[in-house]
Amino acid sequence: MVEEFIVRTQRKNEIVNITDQVKQIVEKVCKKEKIKDGICLVYTPHATAAITINENWDPSVCDDFLTAMSNLIPEEKWKHDRVDGNGAAHIKSAIIGPEKAIPIKDGKLVLGTWQGIMLCEFDGPRERRVIVVCK
Ligand code: ZN
Repeated sequence: MVEEFIVRTQRKNEIVNITDQVKQIVEKVCKKEKIKDGICLVYTPHATAAITINENWDPSVCDDFLTAMSNLIPEEKWKHDRVDGNGAAHIKSAIIGPEKAIPIKDGKLVLGTWQGIMLCEFDGPRERRVIVVCK
């Protein structure tokens, strides 16, 4: 079963914690399809966004991640900037990647205490689709 939800980002570069939405979908689908142990794929179909897993407690972790990405990949020095001005966003998105796979055990996501699933926005604000598949 393929489920989907929308995230409306607010800033050009932003991390949005989507753990609760994904957990709700996984628990609903596992109950409905009687999945006990399996795998959950979280995917975003965009070339300037990404999915990662990072600490979900101290917000400065996500701020530091965005700062590090911007230091590694500065704006306004890429050939693609002449096309639509978002060369850095495409590179960040490609490095982090559009998906994460997370184990399911006893119908629930296996996440560490401090792990959260994050949508990375690199060219917002925009509406972003997040697709969740449980098998
Ligand atoms: Zn572009």
